[in-house]
Amino acid sequence: MAHFKHYINGEWVDSESSIDVIDPATETVVGSIALADIKEVDLAVKSARECVTRGDLSMPRPAERVEYLLKVVGELEKLKDEGAKLLVAENGKTTAQAVDEFDNAIRYFRYYAGMADKIEGRSIPLGEDYIDFTMYEPLGVSAQIVPWNFPVDLCARSLAPALAAGNAVVIKSPELTPLAMTFIAQACHNAGLPNGAVNMICGYGSTAGAALVEHHDIDQIVFTGSVATGQSILRAAAQRAVPCVMELGGKSAAVVFPDADLDAFINDVDWGIFFNAGQVCSAMSRLIVHESIHDELLQRVIKLAKSQTFGHGSEPSTTLTPLASAHQRDAVLAYCQRSLEQGASLATGGTAIGESGYFVAPTVLDKVSPDSDVFKQEVFGPVLAVTTFNDEAQAWQLANATNFGLVNGIFTRDLNVAMRGAKALRCGQVFINEWYAGGVETPFGGVGLSGYGREKGQEALYNYVRTKNVAIKLQN
Ligand code: NAD
Repeated sequence: MAHFKHYINGEWVDSESSIDVIDPATETVVGSIALADIKEVDLAVKSARECVTRGDLSMPRPAERVEYLLKVVGELEKLKDEGAKLLVAENGKTTAQAVDEFDNAIRYFRYYAGMADKIEGRSIPLGEDYIDFTMYEPLGVSAQIVPWNFPVDLCARSLAPALAAGNAVVIKSPELTPLAMTFIAQACHNAGLPNGAVNMICGYGSTAGAALVEHHDIDQIVFTGSVATGQSILRAAAQRAVPCVMELGGKSAAVVFPDADLDAFINDVDWGIFFNAGQVCSAMSRLIVHESIHDELLQRVIKLAKSQTFGHGSEPSTTLTPLASAHQRDAVLAYCQRSLEQGASLATGGTAIGESGYFVAPTVLDKVSPDSDVFKQEVFGPVLAVTTFNDEAQAWQLANATNFGLVNGIFTRDLNVAMRGAKALRCGQVFINEWYAGGVETPFGGVGLSGYGREKGQEALYNYVRTKNVAIKLQN
C-alpha cells in the first residue's frame, strides 16, 4: 500500500500520524498519507515566506515564471496517467473523468503561463506636473484550501494563477482525496520551481485547515468548499483582515422553455446532475420547466436516470460513480426523504444502491415546492428537483429564489428570452443552451452564499496581486 507525504520546502516530509484513504466504490484502503498538525502548517508557511522574502518568483523577469509554468505542464503530462488511476481509486471517478481532470489542471498551468508576463499596470494622467502609474505586486503567501470533489482541477485552478503572479503557496489538500493531488506537487518539484514556492500538506480541516487560515504569516486565503466552512474561515480571516477568495456551494437551475431542443437538453441533464454523482458545485440540481412540456420532459429525464450504470470508475461501462463517503451518501438520502415529507413526489431513485460502496440511485423528485429544503439547499448528490413555471417572470423569480447564486442555465431558441434571463438571473455565470459551457478562460464564481471573487479566466489572476499606485510630482 502506497504511503504519501507532505511537500514542504522542496522536500517530501512525513508526520507521526497518517490517515488511510478509502476507495468509495469498494470501501477498501487505497493508500495512506501523512497527517499535518500545527507543526507542519508552521513549516509550510515558513518555507513559503522565505521564498517570498528571497523574491525567488517575484524578482526575476516575469518570463522566467512563464518558463516555470510551462515546465509544470510538461511534467504533469508525464504524470497524468498514473495520477488519474489514483484519482479513480480515491474519488470514485471514471477513468475518462479523472484523465479529463488532469487535462484541465494542465490547461490551467498553460493558460496562466501565457499571462505571467502580461501583468501590467497603467499610467493615470494627472496634468502636466505629475506622473502617476500603478503596478501589481504579488500578495505574498497564498493559503489555499481544496475540497474533495475535483481535487486536482481545483488545486491547479488557484495554484497556477498564484504562481503566475509571483506568490508562494501553501495548499491544504482534502482529507478524503489527497493522493492524486500530490502529483501536482511532484510536477512542480520536477519542473525545478524554487524551494518553498509550492508547499502541500494534508490534514483535517478542524486542525491543519484551521491552523493554516489562522496563521499570522499568510497574506491571502483561497477557499473552495462548503458555506459553513467558508463562514468559519471568514471569521478567522477577519482577525487580521486577510483577503479571501470564497468559492462556495450552489443550487443552480436549468430553466427550460417550450421551444428548447429537448434532445440536446437530455445530454445536458446527464452532465448536469449525474456527472460525478452530482458532486459538483455548479451541478444542475434544479429543473424549472414550463408546465406545457413538463410531462414529456419528466418522462425523458426518468428514462435517463434509469439508464445509468453504477460501478467502479475503472469499469468502462460505469456512468454513475459513488458519493465520496458514507456520510455524504447518508446526507443525500436524508434530503430525499425530507423532500417527500415536504410534499415532493418521487419519480425515481431515492435509495442507496450496491452491495458495497457509497452509491445513491439517480434520483428525480417532481412537484418540488420552492419552500422545501431540496429546492433551496445544496444536496451534492445525483438528485434533480423538478418545479414548473407558467410565465417568463415566474421562471426567473423561481431560479433566483435561493440564497445561492453560482450558475444558472437557460434553454430556449429565443434570443430575446435568453438575454432577458441572462440579465435577470442573480448568479456569477449563465449557461445558454449548454450546461457547463465555458472553460478555463471564463470567469467563474458566485453571488450571495455561493461566495465572492472570481476564479478562472483573466479575472482570476487579479485575485493574486495588489495594486500599488505611485504618484510623482515633477520638480523644476
Ligand atoms: P468542506 O467545506 O467540508 O471542506 C473543504 C475543505 O475545507 C477541506 O479541505 C477541509 O479539510 C477544509 N476545512 C474544513 N473545515 C475547515 C476549517 N475550519 N478551517 C479550514 N479549513 C477547513 O467542503 P467539501 O465537503 O470538501 O466540498 C464540498 C463543497 O465545496 C460543496 O459545498 C461545493 O459546492 C463546494 N465547492 C465549490 C466550488 C466552487 O468553485 N464554487 C467547487 C467545488 C466545490
